[in-house]
Amino acid sequence: QAKSRGRNTLCFFDASMQAAANARSALETDMRAGLQRDEFLLHYQRVVDAQGAVLGAEALVRWQHPQRGMVPPGEFIGVAEQTGLILPLGQLVLRLACQQLACWAQDKACAHWTLAVNVSAQEFRHPGFVQQVLDALAHAQVDPRQLKLELTESLLLHDVEECIAKMQALRAKGVRFALDDFGTGYSSLSYLKRLPLDQLKIDQGFVRDVLTDPNDAAIACTVIGLGRSLGLDVVAEGVETAAQRTFLLRNGCQRFQGYLFGRPAPAAALRD
Ligand code: C2E
Ligand code: MG
Ligand code: MG
Ligand code: MG
Repeated sequence: QAKSRGRNTLCFFDASMQAAANARSALETDMRAGLQRDEFLLHYQRVVDAQGAVLGAEALVRWQHPQRGMVPPGEFIGVAEQTGLILPLGQLVLRLACQQLACWAQDKACAHWTLAVNVSAQEFRHPGFVQQVLDALAHAQVDPRQLKLELTESLLLHDVEECIAKMQALRAKGVRFALDDFGTGYSSLSYLKRLPLDQLKIDQGFVRDVLTDPNDAAIACTVIGLGRSLGLDVVAEGVETAAQRTFLLRNGCQRFQGYLFGRPAPAAALRD
């Protein structure tokens, strides 16, 4: 296509690709420096039950950039994954998450909270992953049962046996697993049954229009039913209105996360 339009088109593509590559490499350099300067931190978003009681939280990484301000993960996780920086970043996230759990353990009001951490495919596939998680837990002296790792369907599609073995090794110590953004990937039911999971998270893309789009409603209800059949907790993500919560609750969902209950915020905000 580009070729048939002639030489200039090709040059144009080269230039825009070059620009994208430059931007990526600038971001990589910046991230490397940011990691050195301790600019990454965690925000926490609560997960609540049907009564509104806090069950725990999800840790969401942020970059407190000296010029750009608070940068959301959507703007740097992709580059971190492409450059391998996700490995040191992921280790930092685990360390911070375990520190936070140790902090909650000191406080009667939140000692029972679980904390969910997002894990990228590249981190999970790293041969040292299981040990790194166990080390982070041991170092902070945290009960592994308080930690939940969020994996995605696409991550689990490759090397299924290897994934299951890693999950089982961590689960044997008490670590729990959630399948994030569920419904957006391609897992088959027979395969889902084999994974040692504790929780499914209904993707916020289905929750958004759950009241107006019958297809989204059907998918949300199917995930809730599937969770029940497989004995898994189901969390609805991205719940923004009371009407969405009511619909999901009526259809059997018992756990919720979303702006209706609280935005991601520093740990201090979560405590009250
Ligand atoms: P996710 O794990 O599915 O996290 C949920 C995202 O939805 C978060 O965006 C959260 O702020 C947002 N959200 C929560 N409630 C609502 C709501 O009611 N409405 C709407 N519109 N959005 C809501 P965030 O923090 O920007 O994170 C985006 C994604 O970046 C996460 O999606 C996750 O895939 C990834 N991510 C975040 N932190 C980490 C991390 O530490 N490690 C890795 N590997 N990935 C991370
Ligand atoms: Mg998540
Ligand atoms: Mg999600
Ligand atoms: Mg997501």
